[in-house]
Amino acid sequence: MQAIEWDKIRAQFPVLHQQVHGKPLVYLDNGASSQMPQSVIDRINNYHSMEHANIHRGVHYLSQTATDEYERTREKVRDLIHARFIEEIIFTTGTTDSINLVADSWGHKNLKEGDEIILSQMEHHANIVPWQLIAQKTGAVIKVIPMDESGVLDLEVYASLLNERTKMVALVHVSNTLGTVNPVLECCKLAKKFNAAVLIDGAQAVPHMPVDIQALNADFYAFSAHKMCGPTGFGVLYGKQELLLEMPPYRGGGDMIDRVSFSGTTFNDLPHKFEAGTPPIAAGIGFGESLNFLDSVGLSNIAAREHELLEYANHELSKIDGLQFIGTSTNKTSVISFLLDNIHPTDAGTIMDKYGVAVRTGHHCTQPIMEYYSIPGTIRASLSFYNNEQDIDALVSAVKETQSFFT
Ligand code: PLP
Repeated sequence: MQAIEWDKIRAQFPVLHQQVHGKPLVYLDNGASSQMPQSVIDRINNYHSMEHANIHRGVHYLSQTATDEYERTREKVRDLIHARFIEEIIFTTGTTDSINLVADSWGHKNLKEGDEIILSQMEHHANIVPWQLIAQKTGAVIKVIPMDESGVLDLEVYASLLNERTKMVALVHVSNTLGTVNPVLECCKLAKKFNAAVLIDGAQAVPHMPVDIQALNADFYAFSAHKMCGPTGFGVLYGKQELLLEMPPYRGGGDMIDRVSFSGTTFNDLPHKFEAGTPPIAAGIGFGESLNFLDSVGLSNIAAREHELLEYANHELSKIDGLQFIGTSTNKTSVISFLLDNIHPTDAGTIMDKYGVAVRTGHHCTQPIMEYYSIPGTIRASLSFYNNEQDIDALVSAVKETQSFFT
């Protein structure tokens, strides 16, 4: 890792420098939403103050500069994930929207009765429910890759589920509940033997590690800006050009058309065919600034720093009697789910909040994982590169305070 002054990076996040309930805020809910550095906040403010206009339509100066700035974000996303073409980058409102787009548009065109869709036990609801909806409409069947106690997928079962009826494999790259990094490269290779399409839910991967979409050879890849030091309401669907060209539009409206008449409508070229209506322009431009920020820190450096923090946290938390980790894969990101004695996770989270420690509690939109472990939920601390060892010390002490409160 390069010698990076992480304190100076942390200093750029204004939200972290405040007190809650009279205690310094310790923000450990980055898996749900990460925070924005000042440069991103300033970029969005400046857009609203001085640059606002609708994009893609106006001939006037403001419209054209807003369009250029917005489209520059698309170039940055292409560079980030090493996509071949700019047309392969579709802007959506987030991972959920991206997956719904594929399930609905690709699904209607490609699925029929008896076809099979493979998901895994550790999917976020966003990568389950859209497939259930399209399966109900088309008669396709969903198969599930099981996992073991440590939160690792069973690849032998996966290989045995694949067959010529498999049309789609939709997998999470990194589990938001367990932190497990799935072997998506291997999973893609196996799926390709049966010509199945592959969608990867990258919501928890792209913010934490370099991703090369061409090396991965996935057909679709989805992620959200708000987990990448960017604003809410904005996200990305990467799709291979040849598949996107064949897919019907998902939503109709302005911008996605070529020509409209009552005798019929023709559609715009990629990527606009999938981008109906006025998008969240400020969020798109702000996201471009987040990508500049992440690039300036370096995703490899981010991965290394977060791993360092994970190791420290695991080491310190494992000293606490009565704390049980959920998700112990050897290949994981800095997501730490745990249970504490027999304290309900929501109660634990409420007490920890009083010490300024923001963790997430509950099922984390992964109820099938909770079903597997027969638990109502977990306490989840998800770390970012702008956290530090003092944050982890505060977490440990809040955990101990919670235990003594309940005893
Ligand atoms: N997939 C995973 C793995 C996630 O962690 C999340 C959000 O937590 C989503 C999908 C949904 O993302 P969004 O709510 O930004 O659409």
